[in-house]
Amino acid sequence: MGLAQRAQLRKSYIAQSPRWRHPVVGYLLSPFIVAVGTIGILFLQKMLGLIHFAGSLMTLTVLFIALFWGVGPALVAVILSTVLLDYYFVPPLGHVVINSWDDITQLLPFIISGLTIAVITAQRERARLSALSTEQELQAYAEELEAMNQKLGEANEMKDRFISIASHELKTPITTIRGQAQLMIRRLSKQEDLSPEMEAIGSTLNKINDQTTRLTGLIDELMDVSSIRAGKVELRKQKCDLKDTCREVVEDQRLLSGRVITLDVPSMPVKMQVDCERLAQVFVNLISNAVKYSPEESRVEVTVSKQDHIALVQVRDYGKGISKDLQERIFETFYRTPDAQSSSKRGLGLGLAISKDIVERHDGRIWCESEPGQGSTFSVELPLR
Ligand code: ADP
Repeated sequence: MGLAQRAQLRKSYIAQSPRWRHPVVGYLLSPFIVAVGTIGILFLQKMLGLIHFAGSLMTLTVLFIALFWGVGPALVAVILSTVLLDYYFVPPLGHVVINSWDDITQLLPFIISGLTIAVITAQRERARLSALSTEQELQAYAEELEAMNQKLGEANEMKDRFISIASHELKTPITTIRGQAQLMIRRLSKQEDLSPEMEAIGSTLNKINDQTTRLTGLIDELMDVSSIRAGKVELRKQKCDLKDTCREVVEDQRLLSGRVITLDVPSMPVKMQVDCERLAQVFVNLISNAVKYSPEESRVEVTVSKQDHIALVQVRDYGKGISKDLQERIFETFYRTPDAQSSSKRGLGLGLAISKDIVERHDGRIWCESEPGQGSTFSVELPLR
């Protein structure tokens, strides 16, 4: 710590303490306190007769001054007390002279203990100053962190606003393109005997339809995420049978993917008060992921079961699986495993984050169990109410 920095610290340390403890007050008061101490000892001597521990009693005044006003006033007190002790208690009385070794040995214990008190006080002050310096540094760091945090929060908000505006703006033209393409496809399908040129147009329109459908899905995911972040997602709960919801989703996914998707359901209905559409969205995410991240020829198994107070939906695939350390991370927004990133499977890493939010809004739980190379099982547990 430099001298200027130390002086600055001292200033702020003094500014923090009450006015009556300022060193100047100590310098002004110490002659008075030493005088009172000396009068007290003289009075005691008058009462008890000759006392040999005047120096020890004087040490108390030095200690008192050091305790409240610090090392400077304590040193002044040591000098004044030495003079007064010599004057009143070391023969020849009434003179401030040191004639012999005997005079010195009488004063030495007091001087040593007075100086020891001054040294300890100085060390205490240094420790307090360095604690103050650490405190000020920490405060500066905390303020810096706070400012950075605020900036990050603002940047994050701006990003969310951008995602929300961009996805809303994209949705309208894409829906129009898709609608027009579907209209043309329908018109073409009504025509008999299409020329090769019209057939080529038909296949282009089908590609446009597929790609815009995919884009609409991605935009819907982005819009869902910005609504979740803004806390705008509301559940529209109604009575529905989880078995039926799963059956519809499985049938749709079979048609879309052409894959073998088995469904195992209990014989009894699984009636619940939930937002069926949102839960269907969760099952679509899980089943389409199972299809996407497993080999074409492997099957996907969906199981619905009912226990005492819970309903459990499990989606099992026989794909590459997910390593243990990533099984929590895949539920984070925009997270994709390195495997998925390096593969040709496209996605934004939002489906599972949205699913987690929906399930948790139903007071449920979603998790993944997987062994690399053995496939994965995603489970959704929902309370039966
Ligand atoms: P994405 O659009 O990337 O599929 P998700 O949020 O649905 O986003 O999934 C996040 C990530 O979790 C995926 O990118 C993938 O790495 C991993 N994942 C999800 N489901 C499976 C699965 N059944 N098998 C292997 N990995 C999966």
